[in-house]
Amino acid sequence: MRIIGASVKIISDSRGNETLETGLRSDKFFASASVPAGKSTGTHEAFVLEPQKVILKFEETKSEILKKECRTQKDFDKFLIALDGTDNKKNLGGNLILSLSLAWARLKAKENNQELFEYVNKTFSESFFGSAAVRAPKPIFNVINGGAHARNKLDFQEFQVIPTTEDFNIAYSIGREYYRKLKKVLDEKFGEENITLGDEAGYSAPFETNEEALEIMADLIGKNNYPLRIGLDVAASQYYRANEYIINKKSYSNEEVKEYYLKLIEAYDILSIEDPFYEEDFDSFAELTKEIKKIDDSMDFENLKGTHKIYPKENSRLVITDDLTTTNSKRLKMAVDKNAGNAILVKLNQIGSLTETLEVIKMAYDNNWQAVVSHRSGETMDDFIADLAVGVGAWGLKSGAPGKPERLAKYERVLKIFS
Ligand code: PEP
Ligand code: MG
Repeated sequence: MRIIGASVKIISDSRGNETLETGLRSDKFFASASVPAGKSTGTHEAFVLEPQKVILKFEETKSEILKKECRTQKDFDKFLIALDGTDNKKNLGGNLILSLSLAWARLKAKENNQELFEYVNKTFSESFFGSAAVRAPKPIFNVINGGAHARNKLDFQEFQVIPTTEDFNIAYSIGREYYRKLKKVLDEKFGEENITLGDEAGYSAPFETNEEALEIMADLIGKNNYPLRIGLDVAASQYYRANEYIINKKSYSNEEVKEYYLKLIEAYDILSIEDPFYEEDFDSFAELTKEIKKIDDSMDFENLKGTHKIYPKENSRLVITDDLTTTNSKRLKMAVDKNAGNAILVKLNQIGSLTETLEVIKMAYDNNWQAVVSHRSGETMDDFIADLAVGVGAWGLKSGAPGKPERLAKYERVLKIFS
């Protein structure tokens, strides 16, 4: 595909910080893409170059991009990676490379007369020999925000509800209803004036402990018999200090924090836990995964072997790796070798290109891991991740709570695909 025009501009993300939007033009079409930004970022993420510096870098490299004619996504992304020439995209910036990569994907889909999710699905199977059915992911609603994403006493970053139904339309409406009812419960308990929204549109309130938030959530599910399970992204690197974890002002060793999680998992029938340990501690992730396997009779890995099953059995719990693996196949390989989880969180901007993201998902599926596609806490209105999740048949899609436009955009794109 020949690119006849390319531009990069600076826009604002949902936190009001500067980020990039890139546009590419072929003979017939125009497509654009923007990139988000994380706050609880993993050490091994691709380098983010300051947007002002990106503009200068882009002017230097624009002629190369216009000269180069690429046939496939892989060719284009490999060309950009070579142009950058560093291990972590420090030269051009992972943010510039990703915005170009995603804009190219959208443009190519238009050239092929395909919907973006169809393009992703075809690219995944043809260029990566990945096999995945196009289907709707489970929406993972982050209804209470803590940790780095809110100003409150909660150590855990995300308190989520996950619908058990596979019908996205129903799942989305249950999520919205739960979110509205939760607001009423919190208003009554803490006073309306004390409820705010965190970065991902989940509520923030003066909770005293993580358990208090979990108790309120579980109570609301139970009273209404909602088909919802609880999920957590504890983002443990945020409360890890030299060999100890500080939770509710108390210090826990590795072993103690593992026991603490296991108690919570049983008490609140928690379906998934993300980043339970510090981002370099593969062994503790493996320990917890082993323990959860023991208590979770239906977490039957043997049954999942061979083909990629989209949904594990209803009760199969997930240990999700985010900062541990940073959407990076070298890190995922280490995690897989140690059995340090059974699902990878997929964030395009952690690695910085669509090609490398699809490679990671292929590796996950080949090893019977699930994929959960995720937004970042600083988002734009771009809904690419919805098409990515659908195109690779991801288990889940994390796009926060249904309460701010940049979060809704992703869920509503999935709705649109299946309407
Ligand atoms: C996360 O940790 O899963 C997350 C979405 O947060 P951030 O974007 O701040 O890394
Ligand atoms: Mg996370």
